[in-house]
Amino acid sequence: MPIKTLLSDNGNCLTYKVTGTFRFSEFIDADRDFFSNPDNGNKLNYTIIDYSDAVDIIHSVRDLDTVSNNAKAIAKTYNRAIVAILADHSMIQSYSDMWGKFAKQLGWKYKVFTERSSMEEWLLANVSSKYDGLITQSSIIESRNKRKRAGLENLGFILDPLSVYFEVSTALILSYHDDVIEVLENNSSAEDGPYKIGASESMVDSNSYFEFIIKHDTELYIPNANLEQQWENNPSLPFGLLSFIGLPIHRPTGEIFGIVCLMNEEPIRLDNQKNEVLFGTRDTLESQLKLKSDHDTIYKHLGEILDLQISLEKESKCDYLTGFYNRKNFLEMSDSELSRSRRNNTQLSFIFCDIDHFKRINDKHGHDAGDEVLKRFSALIKENIRTYDIVWRWGGEEFLILLPETNASSAEDVADKLRAIIESAIFLYDQKKVQVTVSFGVSEISKDEEINDFLIRLDKLLYKAKQAGRNLVMSA
Ligand code: GH3
Ligand code: MG
Ligand code: MG
Repeated sequence: MPIKTLLSDNGNCLTYKVTGTFRFSEFIDADRDFFSNPDNGNKLNYTIIDYSDAVDIIHSVRDLDTVSNNAKAIAKTYNRAIVAILADHSMIQSYSDMWGKFAKQLGWKYKVFTERSSMEEWLLANVSSKYDGLITQSSIIESRNKRKRAGLENLGFILDPLSVYFEVSTALILSYHDDVIEVLENNSSAEDGPYKIGASESMVDSNSYFEFIIKHDTELYIPNANLEQQWENNPSLPFGLLSFIGLPIHRPTGEIFGIVCLMNEEPIRLDNQKNEVLFGTRDTLESQLKLKSDHDTIYKHLGEILDLQISLEKESKCDYLTGFYNRKNFLEMSDSELSRSRRNNTQLSFIFCDIDHFKRINDKHGHDAGDEVLKRFSALIKENIRTYDIVWRWGGEEFLILLPETNASSAEDVADKLRAIIESAIFLYDQKKVQVTVSFGVSEISKDEEINDFLIRLDKLLYKAKQAGRNLVMSA
């Protein structure tokens, strides 16, 4: 059985860590409840991120900032990922586009699916073979990941040949943080002794070999601790580890990262060649840390570039005054919603609205007042629709709202709610009250209707609302 742990839940995005061999459908089905509960913002999509020794499943709303943060977090932690998006729920194009862009930049595999079965097939073909026989014990996965974060992953393998070459029982790489030293890597035979991976020791008055190295930031060679009074209380002695050689490992900043050391029950013998090997090993570990730090820097910059890209993307698609999409993005964006609703056989409605006598507001209070009215109006609309409804600024004071999975009568309710909210809202400019009302045309698009024909029909409904006296909702 795979193990699934909830890593975070920020209200609209659940991130799971999954380890083990599994079918993806097991996880997808397990969360149906979450999906059908309208209190959870209902329609969500799946993003399944795969990496070499575990899987994150992210259930995410179509919020670009969430996407960018997830992508950045994953890029920071793992080099490789597979992103599969199941787009069988209503979602805007930009969500999957954004994942696609990240995936391309980061060299990840990426694909969007409209059917769960084909997504599973693809995922199984691309990743599942790697999971066969995977260790499913979360603590082991945890300690592996910790080592990954430490930046010396994949270098544990040097400890076995090192222990053979020096003829010692124990060879370790340890990390140091918060007055504690912890075993990151060991040679195979050390796993039977006290220095198992993950074992830790306090570095406060421990009288240990390790503490001496950390405190003095120096190498330490003890041929036989039994012959030196200073080491008679050393915690390694009860295990017979009376001979020790250790070197501090430094981060690129110069701080101590940890220690590489050898221990043995018999005196360890050194010569020039062995010295060279030992210092060479330390140099290799330090260069690896330098690489890790360069990698982090690159990903930090990449994160900044992704942020910039998102804000540029938003800016280019959105109107600066209201924050809503520009009309030029209408056809492309509405088309994906339209085909999704037709494929899934769900209803799709639109609301077209126009501020009443806006010209008079400009004439009476000035153009700046008009701008302020537009801003506040837009904020009120945004606050009172769902996150996955889409709004375009159609013209100066005209707006088009797309409501996925909404029939005509619900759309009419939404429009009437918005109408009442605007009518009763207080618009202030220069401490003067500005009365604002809006007229609405509302309709559901029928299955075989062309979008342009539909818009003409919707415009006529709005015109009717204006004719009938304004501050009204007119539906088909
Ligand atoms: P109706 O109730 O029939 O819609 O009357 P109206 O006055 O709202 O309609 P009309 O189309 O005659 O006027 C719209 C006005 O909106 C004219 C234009 O100057 C103004 N307008 C368009 N864009 C902006 C803008 O960005 N800021 C401001 N302040 N005014 C704008
Ligand atoms: Mg108007
Ligand atoms: Mg108008």
